Amino acid sequence: MHKALQISALLLLVCCFANDLLSQNRTFLEKKAKDLSSASMKGRGYVENGLEKAAGYLHHQFDSLGLKNFKKDYCQKFKMAVNTFPEDPFVSFGGEELLVGVDYHIDPSSGDSKGIYEPLIFSEKNVIDLPEPGRLIIPGKKLVLVLDQRNISDKDSLAMFRSLKMRHAEYLPVIVLTENKLTWSVSDEQHDHAIIEMSADAFPEDTRKVELGINAELKSEFEAMNMIGFLKGRTEPDSFIVLTAHYDHLGMMGTEACFYGANDNASGCAYLLELARHYAEKYNKYSMVFIAFAGEEAGLLGSKYFVEQPLFPLERIKFLLNIDLMGNGDEGITVVNGTIFEEQFKWITSINKEKGLLNKVKIRGPAANSDHYWFTQKGVPSFFIYTMGGSKAYHDVNDNFDNLNFEEFPDLFVLITEFLSRF
Ligand SMILES: [Zn+2]
Repeated sequence: MHKALQISALLLLVCCFANDLLSQNRTFLEKKAKDLSSASMKGRGYVENGLEKAAGYLHHQFDSLGLKNFKKDYCQKFKMAVNTFPEDPFVSFGGEELLVGVDYHIDPSSGDSKGIYEPLIFSEKNVIDLPEPGRLIIPGKKLVLVLDQRNISDKDSLAMFRSLKMRHAEYLPVIVLTENKLTWSVSDEQHDHAIIEMSADAFPEDTRKVELGINAELKSEFEAMNMIGFLKGRTEPDSFIVLTAHYDHLGMMGTEACFYGANDNASGCAYLLELARHYAEKYNKYSMVFIAFAGEEAGLLGSKYFVEQPLFPLERIKFLLNIDLMGNGDEGITVVNGTIFEEQFKWITSINKEKGLLNKVKIRGPAANSDHYWFTQKGVPSFFIYTMGGSKAYHDVNDNFDNLNFEEFPDLFVLITEFLSRF
């Protein structure tokens, strides 16, 4: 009898485990992450219709998963301003052309500069001698200001250099030399002249000649779209569990340098689609909403628009789970808002412990670092989960599919679905 009990307990355990495994599909997830971070998506940004291509892809996916829409379409359109770089940039030092995306980045708020310039270098040592913006003039000479930030690590000095960069760029092109990893972002403004962030490794100390060819195009009325689909709940269709992941990334710096945004956030979108696939086959008590937001990298713009123009009452949201940076996890996950929703955070840690899933579940307080933020501001209970570990690629050309690692996907999938089943 004792033995029989043991065997049936074991069988039950195997069945539960198999059920968890059967209901998830890693191949599906990886395919979606790969598609969304492929070169054809153009970094899901503002050059060569990248964002639109990704939206079209999601539209097709939502459709084939059988998601319903709240309006006549999955799209929720909104306008945003964005500074873009559709043309290939050119930067050379002493006749040596530098490689965009590797040796340098164009600052997101860069303007245009074209021509041959003489560099004037200022570091922490002589920055005191730097004339006021607009006063840096040598008759008959075209100058580029080089701000040498090497060896500067304290916050105040970095802030001062940042301010100098912005103010001087109204009068002449500026190059910032840094020892740090180059990290790109998105801006809604444009300076009068080019601003370039350059890796110190690529800087030839003795150069007297810099050639620049930077073209920027400020799109003040760029049309972006959130993609929103749902599965109708069976017992309480007017209550909602909302899953969100932003699908935009940074786009392209010219036609060659692509910011694939595989971890940020093709990975989260792939989870979103995989979870939609999972719930489409389930009996769901509440309506399950799947939102892929645009404009996140430009300042959480898509989610801001959504909370201002919601497609269903925000107070009907039982819980919202935002996922971003889901392409690792060997060092576990962080749960933003964990300190606000203590009980729900305990659910996560207890599921994780009971089932022996992830290495670590780290708690974090509220933070305006992804799309859950505006919902939190509106009083919607929410978590933002991101994975930790793996590649350090972030907002650079190395955030590509090859640097993702979905080894932890089976555990993370179980953790998320078990967590959501408790509502
Ligand atoms: Zn992100």
